[in-house]
This record gives sequence, C-alpha cells and structure tokens, in this order.
Amino acid sequence: MYRFAIALLAATLSPFSYAQMPVSSETRATVSRIVGDVMVNGQAYEYDRQLADTVGPRLTGSSNYVHAVAWAQDQFKQLGLSNVHTEAWKMKATWEPETAATGRIITPREQTLHIYSMGWSPSTPGSGVKGDVVYLQHLTPEGLDAQKDKIGGNVVLLDNKSMADLELTQLLRSLDKLGRLGPRAVMIVGGANGTESASALSFDGSIAPVPIAQVGYEDVQLMKRMLEHGPVSVEFSFKNRIRKDVEVNNVVAEIPGSELPNEVVIVGAHLDSWHPATGAQDNGTGVATALDVARAIKASGKAPRRTVRFVLFGGEEQGLIGSVAYAKAHAAEMPSIDCVLISDTGAQPAKGWYVMGREDETPALSNVEPLLAGLGSNQTTTSVEFLYETDHIGFDVQGVPTLVLWNDTDKYFKLHHKASDSFDSVNQADLNQGVATTAATAYAIADSAQRIAPHDTPAQVEEFLKKANQWDDYQYFKSTGVLP
Ligand SMILES: [Zn+2]
Repeated sequence: MYRFAIALLAATLSPFSYAQMPVSSETRATVSRIVGDVMVNGQAYEYDRQLADTVGPRLTGSSNYVHAVAWAQDQFKQLGLSNVHTEAWKMKATWEPETAATGRIITPREQTLHIYSMGWSPSTPGSGVKGDVVYLQHLTPEGLDAQKDKIGGNVVLLDNKSMADLELTQLLRSLDKLGRLGPRAVMIVGGANGTESASALSFDGSIAPVPIAQVGYEDVQLMKRMLEHGPVSVEFSFKNRIRKDVEVNNVVAEIPGSELPNEVVIVGAHLDSWHPATGAQDNGTGVATALDVARAIKASGKAPRRTVRFVLFGGEEQGLIGSVAYAKAHAAEMPSIDCVLISDTGAQPAKGWYVMGREDETPALSNVEPLLAGLGSNQTTTSVEFLYETDHIGFDVQGVPTLVLWNDTDKYFKLHHKASDSFDSVNQADLNQGVATTAATAYAIADSAQRIAPHDTPAQVEEFLKKANQWDDYQYFKSTGVLP
C-alpha cells in the first residue's frame, strides 16, 4: 500500500503518469493480431533450430558465440529493425574445453572417474594433477580453518553436504578463501555419474586459481566411503583454451516508438550458452522469443508509442556479465527505460511473470492479464527465488521495473546446463505460447498512455533487497564490481 500511495502521488507529480497503465481498445486489437500471428505463424521454433543446430553451443567469446552475434544481427536486419548494432564489453577471460577430462582413483584401488573440467577452470599441469584426497566437511570460514592444515598441496573434495545451506555469496567467499589455502586442485560433486552439468565457480569471468573438476555423484560417495577406511589418491587431467581480456559483443536492435521514441521497453535474453549440448532451451528459446516478438510487432504494422529495444547479452552463464555491462554503460539512460522483460527459463508453458519483488508492478499488469488469460499465462509472482539468477538484476538495482517470464520448469531443470539441452526437447506450441505472452505484455507496456511503475529510488531498492533478505548478497556483488 505504501508503494502504491507513493506511485499515486508520483503519478500526479512526475511527467510520467502511472495510474494502472491502461490498455486501450486499439492496443488490445493490435495485441490480438500479434498473438494470433505468433500462435499460428510463429517463427521462434525455426529461430531456435537455427541457433541450436546450425550455430551450436555458444560459450561466451567463443567462435560459435561470434557466429551467433552475426547471425542475430542478420535476423534483426532481415526483419527490418532499426539501429541494429553490437555493443562491446571486456571479459576477464574466455574459456573452452580443449581435451576431454580423464581421471581415476589410484589408491586404495584403481577406478575410472566420471570427471569433467568445471567452466572457467585452468587446465591441469602438463603431467596432470596427482594427489591425496581431503574431504572438506564444511565450506565455511570455520570449516576451512578447522581443516586448513590438510588443504595445502592436496586435492580437496566437496559435495552437497560440504556446501549445505550456503548462500551464493557465502559460497563465493569461501571458495576464494579455499583457493588461498593452496590446494593442488578441487573436485566438486556434479550430477549422477556420466551427466555433466556445466557451471563456473566464479561470478565475474575470472579463471579459478587452481584446477577444478566436476566428479559424478556416485564416484564422490565412493571416495568418501574409502576415506573412512584409509587414504585415497587420484589423478586427472584436462586442457582448456583460455584467452584473457577478450572483447565480447551484446546485440541490440530497435522498433522506434511512434510517439515517445525516447522512452524504451527492453526485451532481452542471453545469447551465450554452456557447451555440453546446444543450449536449445538455455537460452536458445529466450533468444528465439526476442526475435519472434520483434518479427510479430513489425508484422503488425503498428509501432507502439514507446521504442521496443531488443538486447541479446553475452556472459550470462559466467555471472550476468554482459547485461550488467550493458546496464552500467546505459546508466544515464535508466530513467527513460520503462521496463525490462527477460526470458531465461526454457520453453515449457508460461504461467505469467516474476515481478522480482516489485509488487507495485502488479496493478499495471492487472490490465494486461485479460490479454493473457486465453494463453493461460496471466499470473504474476513476487517470488525472488531467481533474483540473482538472470539478466534483469543489473536494471533492478538501478530502480528500473523488470519482469522475468515465469515458466513451468520441472522438465527444464532436468536438462539445464546438461547434454540433453538440445533442440529435440523444445515443444513448438509451448514455445509460441511463451512468445505470445512476451509479445502481448511488451506491446501493452510500450503502447500504454502511462508507464508500468515508477523507478525505485536507491532507498527503495535497498528496502526491497533487505525485505527479500538479499541486501548482504547485493553488498558483496557491488563490492566485487559484479553489480552496479
Ligand atoms: Zn540461462
């Protein structure tokens, strides 16, 4: 209520009006055409096929990523969008696996390990890593202090119990401390034996101080049981291609507004992916969504009042790096960015939108919900479970209203970052439903006589992050330059 009262007050005082963000009958008519076009003639499925099957896995800064940047620009140009360009930012390092990891338990007996290099891990030394295994009970400052005499020069083993109940930033801080204790290497538990689940343990694109390997769950349990009966030693090796200080591009394109071209609604998605498969749903379907929203709005022949800007970010999987770089580079423009809509949770049916704790967006969205009811995607959630998980956050912390597409994710998380994230997993009708949801919402926000919600002041951002128990994490990310 306090926020709503402020919004109402702001509506009477500020040049931008907010009350409820009405959706005119004209807007409704255009949105109906757009939704019909997407559901019948949607091209997102084909865009995703091209990205996944012809471009392939797109590790940030890799040659496939560079190919994807060119491909996306071409698509936007073919659609007749304006101001199609790239915006470069600097990545501390790029990383690609060169040789597959191999590894084995040596003592007490030989056993081949199901092992992979973690993302952004350095290569093992030429002769590989060989050493005694130390299981770390607790990856906490106290836990590290308790075992610090055993860590130097050994291979540290971490499993879910070691990392239990750790918040993201506690994990990052403790990993930093662990690195300074000089282990020879680190082995961290992954999924079931044989299922690589790609990820990196840094949040800023830096290369880890020591080799980090991901080992299958069952193998980790075996080593822990063996350790209860005596020493265990292992050896493993992998080689990664690493380049430092690499320029990476985001892709930008626009549909200029008909009346308020300086006010902007951003539709964004990350273009990079991990490597075990082709990133068809993480985040090929997000990119395909942005492209098909652009196609459908263009095809409607009716540009909304405000400019709709499409931004494809790199570096998301390494810590939201491309979107934060964009949000920092456009800090002066933030007051005229009305809303940022992000899609990054796959292609299962959309339920509606995460308002990322911004409850003051829901009154405005209540006018959009009738447009989405027929699609079954007219819900909103204030859950902040994914607050630091995707590309909206660099805008949120600068007070800009954001929306993240809220999909069912039970199937999505089974293939997330794994070798099963391939195009055959994509359901065309469900993908189109998500595209139609995004197109309808973005158009309604861009075409309304009023803005969706006021921008939060720094004090309101602080209040909301504290309310969401996310203030400490934000302070950490801010202090390490990860967030603006
Ligand atoms: Zn993603």
